Amino acid sequence: MSGMNKQGRPTSFAESGGGAERTTFTGNKGLELEEPLIFERDTKGACGVDLDEPEGYQPKIGKFERKNRIGLPGLSEPEVVRHFVRLSSKNYSIDAGLYPLGSCTMKHNPRLNEKMARLPGFGDVHPLQPEQTVQGAMELIDTLAHWLKTLTGLPAVAMSPKAGAHGELCGMMAIRAAIEAKGEGEQRRRVLVPESAHGTNPATAALLGYKVDTIKGDGNGRVDLEALREKLGPDVAAIMLTNPNTCGLFERDIIDIAKAVHEAGAYFYCDGANFNAIVGRVRPGDLGVDAMHINLHKTFSTPHGGGGPGAGPVVFSEALAPFVPLPYVVQKDGVYDLIETEDEAEADGTSPFGRMTAFHGQMGMFVRALAYMMSHGSDGLRQVAEDSVLNANYVLASLKDVMSASYEGPCMHEALFDDRFLKGTGVETLDFAKAMIDEGYHPMTMYFPLVVHGALLIEPTETESKQGIDLFIATLRDLVAATKSNDKERFSGAPHFAPRGRLDETAAARKPILRWQPEMPAQAAD
Ligand SMILES: *Cc1c(COP(=O)(O)O)cnc(C)c1O
Repeated sequence: MSGMNKQGRPTSFAESGGGAERTTFTGNKGLELEEPLIFERDTKGACGVDLDEPEGYQPKIGKFERKNRIGLPGLSEPEVVRHFVRLSSKNYSIDAGLYPLGSCTMKHNPRLNEKMARLPGFGDVHPLQPEQTVQGAMELIDTLAHWLKTLTGLPAVAMSPKAGAHGELCGMMAIRAAIEAKGEGEQRRRVLVPESAHGTNPATAALLGYKVDTIKGDGNGRVDLEALREKLGPDVAAIMLTNPNTCGLFERDIIDIAKAVHEAGAYFYCDGANFNAIVGRVRPGDLGVDAMHINLHKTFSTPHGGGGPGAGPVVFSEALAPFVPLPYVVQKDGVYDLIETEDEAEADGTSPFGRMTAFHGQMGMFVRALAYMMSHGSDGLRQVAEDSVLNANYVLASLKDVMSASYEGPCMHEALFDDRFLKGTGVETLDFAKAMIDEGYHPMTMYFPLVVHGALLIEPTETESKQGIDLFIATLRDLVAATKSNDKERFSGAPHFAPRGRLDETAAARKPILRWQPEMPAQAAD
């Protein structure tokens, strides 16, 4: 079959589902080059370096020496370089264009952060170095910790968690430790989670053995305070609530929610993934939050989404501070010290619930986050929140006459639409999103949150220009108009112009090909 590679993937334009008539001899589309797997590029014996056979070499492992080929592909250096450069150009990224993925805060990653993270004193440190040789690195962790506590109005922080979900686990483990310290571990087995929550919230609670109990919304995208009150009781350990929530709305009853939760003897875990909307404006500690993770890779601009590891420090209230996990940095008379063992913690007057990671967290992300904070200053961080909310409201206001906004009134840093505007067009949320790819946009978050049908959650972030957002809005308006035309192919066949057309997602999930297999040598018939 021409235009199919050995794995059965289409390589020509038409067969990629594009529906366009033209195919090319090479499978390339203009200067966008087709690229097979590196194993398919294998030239037996090819190598990027030319090394002499070592003279007088005696293997020290005797009969265990490998005799067969290791199975790595053989390529020259330029072939390797081209392979990875071609693949990288197929990856959409925030450096390429607007990335409106709701709940993910895909903002520009300032290059200053990268420069700071590459300073050898930060970039080359090793977690097992003697403490006296990494005083600067520990000062940086301590300084970042200081600003995270200041911005959230909470007295303690665990720096080591490596992502938002990992931070949730850390926060909930501290809550469990506090409950056990009060002797209520057996009794408090239930965790309340609003129906709009990110999937990681119920997953975290379930992982720790808690029973997840869903609280329904008030019909306006927020938690129903009365429904929450009815669910509270002596068996509730905590509530896990996102604020601003995943519908892009501020929970107006947040103080009453916190009060009710505390009166029931439970703790308030806040999912802080949406902190970007309120950073520098609202301190979660003032709202009654007991623990909250901060996605440094969202609010504080460290790269994510294939661009780098995350970091999810967790801030804690006075009640939970004693249980903050190991290790943590302390400072005495200008000297930084790591509290790494239970004995050291006991001497420091704390009782950590354990530890989350082998070492101290994502050092490179700490450097980037602190560089971001310091280069913005307090006025700049406040402006981040204000501009992110302004941009999202601009999108909401510019589209709500043609797309169906899910809730009344202004939003926070993301605008939520649902699929009512597609009713009767035969176009689904998924088709609409795929058509956006043809226009050069990464789609928004789709089908999340689950509380509205066919959700489209748009988060432009503060780093997009008005010009850029205007073009995005105009594109969506054009697409909405097209849903009402006869040009259904624009949607059902989309993406037409991407390196790959629409994939058979069901087959990919049911019969995944996870590993390249070498072609079997032809067997002699017997
Ligand atoms: C991103 C996100 C998380 C999880 O954070 P990760 O860093 O991806 O683990 C949790 N909750 C919400 C609301 C999020 O947007």
